[in-house]
Amino acid sequence: MSGAIHEADVAVIGGGLVGAAVAWGLARAGSRVVVLDEGEVAFRASRGNFALVWVQSKGLGMPEYAGWTKRSSDLWGGFARELQEQTGLDVAFRRPGGFHLCLSEHEVENRAAMLRRLHNQPAMVRYDYEILDAPRVRTMLPQVGPEVAGASYCPLDGHVNSLRLLRALHAGMQQLGATYLADHVVEQIEPRDDGFRLTTRHGEVRAGKVMLAAGNGNARLGPMVGLDVPVRPQRGQIIVTEKVAPFLDYPVVTIRQTDEGSVMIGDSVEEAGWDTTVGAGVVSAEAQRAIRMFPLLGKLNVVRTWAALRVMTPDGFPIYQQSSSAPGAFVATCHSGVTLAAAHALVLAPLIAKCALPPEEFDVFSPRRFDVPATA
Ligand SMILES: Cc1cc2nc3c(=O)[nH]c(=O)nc-3n(C[C@H](O)[C@H](O)[C@H](O)COP(=O)(O)OP(=O)(O)OC[C@H]3O[C@@H](n4cnc5c(N)ncnc54)[C@H](O)[C@@H]3O)c2cc1C
Repeated sequence: MSGAIHEADVAVIGGGLVGAAVAWGLARAGSRVVVLDEGEVAFRASRGNFALVWVQSKGLGMPEYAGWTKRSSDLWGGFARELQEQTGLDVAFRRPGGFHLCLSEHEVENRAAMLRRLHNQPAMVRYDYEILDAPRVRTMLPQVGPEVAGASYCPLDGHVNSLRLLRALHAGMQQLGATYLADHVVEQIEPRDDGFRLTTRHGEVRAGKVMLAAGNGNARLGPMVGLDVPVRPQRGQIIVTEKVAPFLDYPVVTIRQTDEGSVMIGDSVEEAGWDTTVGAGVVSAEAQRAIRMFPLLGKLNVVRTWAALRVMTPDGFPIYQQSSSAPGAFVATCHSGVTLAAAHALVLAPLIAKCALPPEEFDVFSPRRFDVPATA
């Protein structure tokens, strides 16, 4: 091949958590990898998320997703250790178990019913969870307020420092020989007999395989390789407080104390297109509910708020697929890229290196599931 600025076994499009985890895993499996990313200004869920590694409540409607999530959670400890040994960066992964707090008996009943439905699904993976009454919650989370009526607790839930995770993956993949090209927006992908030709405004990249990991950008790129990737942005807003002494030993689905001491409160679910404006109404509703859960939060200063865009599929479950019209082209996209980073790096990437997603495991994640004829 000639005239290309870069040649590789696999070109990964997107350097967010999905692309970086897959690129790290591919490089670790011995592939020559190039990662093409946008520049400084871009929509990046990976820089604005809540950083939970979360299992409970995932998979209602698709039990295979619950299994995939649990598998990733189980791999997370070894993954974090390996990243630290390799890069020296401690991504602060902790899995003490996590809470979903309820502020009324009605909420507790709804929560219990939802989890029963989840766990009663055929083919649902088995793991422990508990519905706790208020006194039990108080023994584990002594700072909860009097309005907390109960909670669900799952010992598999945890959290991480997700910005450091992104940094560790980037450092790690480059140590393993991957090339990272920032400011290389992929404009065109052309399937060829010998692989793929990718056009960027800085020149051309050629690769035997291509991995679409461009978050919401996958919707535009997919059709270039015969893949339909129906993702849309979904806004979430997050509040961060000043740093305080440790008081919260467990992550709560909407409140967690980071390894650095600040408290993160989040995160809303809003259909607002590409708008990343922070709305005072949403942020104040999040803060009020958080203060009802932990009254001491009312005394803390807020130091930052932001809005970021999730990458959302129509049913909320991930998409993994190899193109049938352009074999060697893959897509991976999900709304829980922190949680799934370990599975992406340690399970998905080696399969892509071998150019095969076993149908018995991955067909369920194909976007073909959206090809349901509309009823009149
Ligand atoms: C508010 C919020 C809270 C969240 N909380 C959690 C949580 O607690 N736990 C959890 O597991 N997940 C959480 N998530 C989800 C998680 O952040 C995402 O699943 C993950 O970051 C998605 O990563 P990605 O790489 O697919 O997308 P992105 O981070 O959006 O990265 C896509 C990358 O592709 C690049 N790109 C796009 N188009 C092109 C192109 N044409 N050429 C080159 N590059 C391109 C972009 O510049 C970007 O760098 C949250 C997300 C949000 C927004």
